[in-house]
Amino acid sequence: MVSIIFLIDKVKYNIYVLFDILTNEMKLYEETQIKIKDSQNDKLTLEVFDSNNFSESGYFKSVIHPMLAPGHEVELINWLKLVGIIPQRQTCQGAGTSDKCRRPMSWEPTKGLDNFTWKCAGCHKRKGIRENSVFHDIKCTFKDAIRSVLGWSKGTDSDTISKILNVRKHVVISTFNLCSRIANSFIEKHKAEWQLGGPGVIVLVLVYPEGCAEFTKTTSSSSSHTPILCLAEVKDVPPRYWFHSLNRYYTTDQEELANKTAMETIRKIVRPGSILVCNYFSSVCSLQSLQPLRDSYPTIVSTLILSQFDNERVILSKNLETIWATALRICEEAQLCNLSEVPDFLINQMWRQRFGSESFEVLINQFFVF
Ligand SMILES: [Zn+2]
Repeated sequence: MVSIIFLIDKVKYNIYVLFDILTNEMKLYEETQIKIKDSQNDKLTLEVFDSNNFSESGYFKSVIHPMLAPGHEVELINWLKLVGIIPQRQTCQGAGTSDKCRRPMSWEPTKGLDNFTWKCAGCHKRKGIRENSVFHDIKCTFKDAIRSVLGWSKGTDSDTISKILNVRKHVVISTFNLCSRIANSFIEKHKAEWQLGGPGVIVLVLVYPEGCAEFTKTTSSSSSHTPILCLAEVKDVPPRYWFHSLNRYYTTDQEELANKTAMETIRKIVRPGSILVCNYFSSVCSLQSLQPLRDSYPTIVSTLILSQFDNERVILSKNLETIWATALRICEEAQLCNLSEVPDFLINQMWRQRFGSESFEVLINQFFVF
């Protein structure tokens, strides 16, 4: 009898043990993350901001930074043109009668933000050099825009960037929004690379804040929170995450809708055959509500069932608290955003998590093709 129970529980027990093994590695990872965060909170000047990024992005140091030095504006503009971030040619669309109209416009120096302009030899009409580029609606110098992109890639907040560049905050935010759009479009195009799990790989499923109540005191199921579906692949340290903000749910209908969105996201992000570990009691993503996913994920277990293995040395909720620490911090930080900004904030987090020190380089390369 004992051995039959043991066989049934073996998978669950293995999951339980894996969480314990992962926890020690996660503790070390967490400590490093907190140290990095503290050092970023030092008073930031432009010099410090730039040099902080030297170690992180060799691309920024060797390719971009020399062009941001005072007096190198033309060099930067020529580079943007050369690589195709701004158009390499423009044709006058004016209805001038001259036969010179509707031909390639000429590149002329001018006073103003961009140093150059396109000019039609026929009707003399001018066209801005950032027209038809991703920077079209960004109202600051290219230099400040590039540093704002760097700030986004590094997770620096818009207030700090606004202060160190002396650029209005709404302008920085418009650049941040541009970065999010470009990152989102990249993610959509490369969906398969962003998926989590796979046959036999554990993926934790949790909805912030209600799903966190059992292992952390820092959150509550307050109705003022934006719920966030968190998925974590339990394989390597740091775990890979996926975040998706949900609409707030107060009524049964809203709960159903949130469950539907959550399940659609799981099907899109989690590879079939993964083992899902969820909460037993939870209005969204509970063990019960995830049952329709069994066709793709035959093993779905709850943390309540796993905690039956708890002993004096190992307590599941303590281990989960450590494993979830990074995700929780991200969800809590997301609550400081306006509701409409939460999805962009989450994209930023996932981008940096995925590309690390190459976040800026990968992003700026998407500006060429966007
Ligand atoms: Zn013309």
